[in-house]
Amino acid sequence: MTKVITILGARPQFIKAAVVSHAFAAHGIQESILHTGQHFDANMSDVFFEELGIPKPDFHLGIGGGSHGQNTGRMVEAIEKVLLEQRPDWVLVYGDTDSTLAGALAAVKLHIPVAHVEAGLRSFNRRMPEEINRVLTDHAVSLLFAPTQRAVAHLANEGIVGASVINVGDVMFDVALHYGERAKNLSSVLERLDLEPKAYTLATIHRAENTDDPARLDAILSGFAAFGKTIVLPLHPRTRARLSGFGLQFPSNVRLIDPVGYLDMVSLEQNANLIATDSGGVQKEAFFHRIPCVTLRDETEWTELVEARWNHLVSPDTAEHVASAMLASLGSKGSEIQPYGTGDASSLIVRSLIESPLL
Ligand code: UDP
Repeated sequence: MTKVITILGARPQFIKAAVVSHAFAAHGIQESILHTGQHFDANMSDVFFEELGIPKPDFHLGIGGGSHGQNTGRMVEAIEKVLLEQRPDWVLVYGDTDSTLAGALAAVKLHIPVAHVEAGLRSFNRRMPEEINRVLTDHAVSLLFAPTQRAVAHLANEGIVGASVINVGDVMFDVALHYGERAKNLSSVLERLDLEPKAYTLATIHRAENTDDPARLDAILSGFAAFGKTIVLPLHPRTRARLSGFGLQFPSNVRLIDPVGYLDMVSLEQNANLIATDSGGVQKEAFFHRIPCVTLRDETEWTELVEARWNHLVSPDTAEHVASAMLASLGSKGSEIQPYGTGDASSLIVRSLIESPLL
């Protein structure tokens, strides 16, 4: 029987893994989950396991809160120990966090084949920790599950070609299809927050290039103030820590809430008049629910959405840039495209692992 160990650590990875875990179960594959502990708060971790029905982690390393170097080093050591005991047929890693790179490094050195979900994404900004994690992971693993044809092309440009690269589509699209209707029926977040549909903008800010630079963070806060309309913002723990460190405050038109579970987040997205974010996942969810989006970054990995004009990329270098992009994007629509597959990425991933000649 094929034995897989899935390495998870951060919120977007729990969400992506939910649909793949269900597909493993449906195909009778024995999956064990290793949680590195990178995100550990109940509302950044436990809520997703409960709400999305992800099996409880079999191994919990409790590693988080340190620097990139500390976390990655400690994770490699602790993951290696588990892999030596368990000897899985495959290790599966997701996305671009320190947990992704640590899982890939620990496994390849033990000659255990590794598969990477969301391979081939590039921002071409090597100052982003996520970019380093993705590039190194893609060059270490045996099987690369790309979400788009463009991701396949990025890998080809780096010399990674052939049967090891498979465009399965985007697991986040599977998730959006699977949980989108459920969110409509089950989430009561609008009533709880006393929000009217289409009467608010949803924002998220958590990327280090924005939160760790006081000038950029201040430009975002002042840009939100100049935008002037109601913004709902589930506050990421990193952003919360930096705000108090820099002595900055969100303006009064921004309603700060604690991070929410996935169904509430989807409902907030579906009913927003606009989404402003620096999150990779939220940019795409805006498109899945056909809500206009402003991405507050210098570059994005999901360039197809910028070309189709669902996503408006703006550098949050001044308040004016932020506010004018948001005001201009209200009510805008892009053109219809379908770059993320057909919503069956999770079963294609599981079938590819079963059929891989590496087993
Ligand atoms: N998300 C959530 N609750 C929140 C904020 C975000 O469930 O309060 C979800 C969001 O819908 C998306 C994922 O978390 O699926 C994105 O994670 P994040 O922005 O932390 O990471 P990124 O996608 O940038 O890697």
